[in-house]
Amino acid sequence: MKYAEHIADLVGDTPLVKLTSVTDGIAATVLAKVEYMNPGGSVKDRIALRMIEAAEESGALKPGGTIVEPTSGNTGVGLALIAQRKGYHCIFVCPDKVSEDKRNVLKAYGADVVVCPTAVPPDHPDSYYQTSDRLVRETEGAWKPDQYSNPEGPRSHYLTTGPEVWRDTDGRVTHFVAGVGTGGTISGTGQYLKDASEGRVRVIGADPEGSVYSGGTGRPYLVEGVGEDFWPSAYDPSVPDEIVAVSDADSFDMTRRLAREEGLLVGGSCGMAVVAALEVARDLGPDDVVVVLLPDSGRGYLSKIFNDDWMASYGFVQDHDETTVGEVLH
Ligand code: PMP
Repeated sequence: MKYAEHIADLVGDTPLVKLTSVTDGIAATVLAKVEYMNPGGSVKDRIALRMIEAAEESGALKPGGTIVEPTSGNTGVGLALIAQRKGYHCIFVCPDKVSEDKRNVLKAYGADVVVCPTAVPPDHPDSYYQTSDRLVRETEGAWKPDQYSNPEGPRSHYLTTGPEVWRDTDGRVTHFVAGVGTGGTISGTGQYLKDASEGRVRVIGADPEGSVYSGGTGRPYLVEGVGEDFWPSAYDPSVPDEIVAVSDADSFDMTRRLAREEGLLVGGSCGMAVVAALEVARDLGPDDVVVVLLPDSGRGYLSKIFNDDWMASYGFVQDHDETTVGEVLH
């Protein structure tokens, strides 16, 4: 019989899939690493597993303890999955821009969710960083993984994501592209690929226009899970060779194209990363292999990026057809 002891044991080993339609006119091979194939539906399962195991090893997380973390959803799902396997309770703190769908997923896994306003600075008492610190102080047996400063985040990518990309491309990968949120993915995976290739692999970060990584001030943008208004220590700025800024409009347009043209129903930060990957790939030749990491699924964004009314309310789509009940579609 072939089976896993627990769903949490199936983290990692995600596949590479070639992009064939959105790459029209591009000579290089562009491969997407599809992280929604992780059991919690995102790349964040990887850091959740490594951060919890390291905290158990160090004694920071004790049996029956509570995990408190500010998370935009995906890290929460990963932590909730691993916590279930190991008997911990979870409290997650989310900014209010995070879709209700995503918050409900966290609750479905049995976690408590606290929602905070997005439109306050990080040092404001109601910010989601400050709120989570307060909850840690007030909860007995609480441990905060702090994905923004925990070195086990980038380390999980150095230990798993990087080696998988290297193995699955037979060491032929020439470029690695990923969105930057905490910076863990790009720092850990990028560093591994640089080490394995003796510096040959070029690492490119994708960032929402307005975020600090591409020289912005933290001005608001709508794409979720990437970009910051501060510099987290999980991010090693010496790893990326280049940062490409991408607008919300281009990110969302590409996200919708990935579903329609490639069969990849993925999130907005995936569209953003692919825009950056194609910008890089456009100047490359047939021997180049670009790997772009797609962090999560589009299921959490059905009422936003994949909803014409929501898209139109921000001017991302102009004329859209309303279909009413009984109307015949042509
Ligand atoms: N996309 C999504 C949807 C995410 O949740 C995250 C994590 N914040 C990222 C991209 C960025 O990954 P990282 O934190 O490793 O930079």
